Amino acid sequence: MDIAAVYHRPDSEMAYLRENGAFEIRLKVKHDDVSKVELLYGDPYGTKVNEKDEGTWEYETIDMDRSFITKLHDYYLAQVTLPLHRLQYAFLITDQKGTKWLYDDRKLVLATKESIAELTCFRMPYLHEIDRIDPPEWVKETVWYQIFPERFANGDKSNDPKGTLPWGSSEPSRDNFFGGDLKGIIDHLDYLKDLGITGLYLCPIFTAHSNHKYDTIDYFTIDPHFGDKKTFKRLVDEAHKRGMKVMLDAVFNHLGDFSMQWQDVIEHGQESRFASWFHINEFPVSYTKTDNDEFARDLTYEVFANTPHMPKLNTASREVQNYLHEIAAYWIKQFNIDAWRLDVANEIDHHFWRHFYSLTHYLKRDFYVLGEVWHNAQSWVNQHEFDGAMNYPFTETLNDGIVAKKISLSEMVSRLNEQLMLYRMPTNQVMLNSMDTHDTARLLTLCQGDKDLMRLTLTLMFLQIGSPCIYYGTEVGMAGDNDPGCRACMIWDKDKQDQKMLAFTKELIKLRKDYHRIFSYGTYTWQVDDDNQTLKLIRSKGEQQICAIFNLGEKPLKVTQKTPLLAQNLVQDQLGKHGFAIFG
Ligand code: CA
Repeated sequence: MDIAAVYHRPDSEMAYLRENGAFEIRLKVKHDDVSKVELLYGDPYGTKVNEKDEGTWEYETIDMDRSFITKLHDYYLAQVTLPLHRLQYAFLITDQKGTKWLYDDRKLVLATKESIAELTCFRMPYLHEIDRIDPPEWVKETVWYQIFPERFANGDKSNDPKGTLPWGSSEPSRDNFFGGDLKGIIDHLDYLKDLGITGLYLCPIFTAHSNHKYDTIDYFTIDPHFGDKKTFKRLVDEAHKRGMKVMLDAVFNHLGDFSMQWQDVIEHGQESRFASWFHINEFPVSYTKTDNDEFARDLTYEVFANTPHMPKLNTASREVQNYLHEIAAYWIKQFNIDAWRLDVANEIDHHFWRHFYSLTHYLKRDFYVLGEVWHNAQSWVNQHEFDGAMNYPFTETLNDGIVAKKISLSEMVSRLNEQLMLYRMPTNQVMLNSMDTHDTARLLTLCQGDKDLMRLTLTLMFLQIGSPCIYYGTEVGMAGDNDPGCRACMIWDKDKQDQKMLAFTKELIKLRKDYHRIFSYGTYTWQVDDDNQTLKLIRSKGEQQICAIFNLGEKPLKVTQKTPLLAQNLVQDQLGKHGFAIFG
């Protein structure tokens, strides 16, 4: 056995309290290196006394299950329940040759009578309910719909910006406007309800200069081209009436350069009362322009990426903290929003987020905080900063394996499993899974127009652990390249909508909802055949099971089960290329 590969860390995603009061323990070992893992566990103060009046620790033993497999590692899992909420434990590992090893807080040694008698256990001294990572339940069952408000629907022509182009009359560009607004969203809430949507994720709606509104001017006002607070209140209320939650997008990493605060810095330099709000290295603030408006050189202040128009906020400043926390609270208290999605969240300090999390959850117990993190998000989701993250590693892995076919199916499954093992299971259940967003090319474009492949990919996404999100227009077959191409006007003309895609999306959402207990909470097991390019995913919860089969190869795949819940390219019992069948 490769003992150097054996790993466990207490009080992390490898040892944590679950929602049902059980304690989950994980052990990571080298792939196919171990034949059995047993968990020795008990109360740290539980001793039994022998005739010589010597106390020995009283423990129980449970077999751990090999639950998640990657190319390099196997993850063994077990759940135990402790009546006194205190736990100490160690691992007894049997390798492929039958040798037994003991792994505890201090050592990994051969298991002998002596070494077991001298255990120095891993400890979870007390399992505090208040420390439990407990993302809101409703998110686990939500099907999201992401809206880029300038391009979803124009419900009020009177608020259109100057130079607004007729709806869909030309390609989206970085600076054109089509007049989309909040009234347009309200007008289509019934459409979204009919589609099966239960959560709206709106890109920024606060007053800003650009069409994307990520360059906030004032977080306390609705952009006048989108409507006003009265309209927004109506939007939230009408969404709630239809069983839909509302998530707003906020950019707290930086302000727009048209903001009052930054304008004051430009005008008064070091004397500005907002000078300490930003990261300024030299006054007066300046930069050298290049041909690209979003790329400056010789900046004397820190910004988002390299754009001179987004000066970075100093979130260590008490004034900035108060200002941003006030914004976060304002939209919850006054408008009853359900979630914040946080842009560039990974570039803001942890201190800020810890306070932000406790404030928002104090105001609304089941509030959801979603961070934009494109990489490992452990540092934020493992300690009550975000409930979940935009699951880009998931998106990229599925894209690489299914759409771009850059990696083998087994490599894809390995990476998906590896991702799930980064987080506690309740966190995995509220990660936001999407295949495309306002920042990336649309799925249909990534699939090079292959709608069968697109439907297969969407289906795979919907069967995963995590909260699925549809980017507006995907359901009617919209295409579009990287931004701004992916931000085209929503197609409302029924003749131009892909009605087959719409009907399919509805069915897929219905399937997810009909079996939400399995998809939201169930186990997750793959079977992969790289040679024939086929995949099988089994999800189960209690007695219920869903088995999904996907054919990405050229050869037809024989399917033995009958009457699928959802299928594509299934003729009699033969699954064709890009075909799939889901059985209950
Ligand atoms: Ca309008």
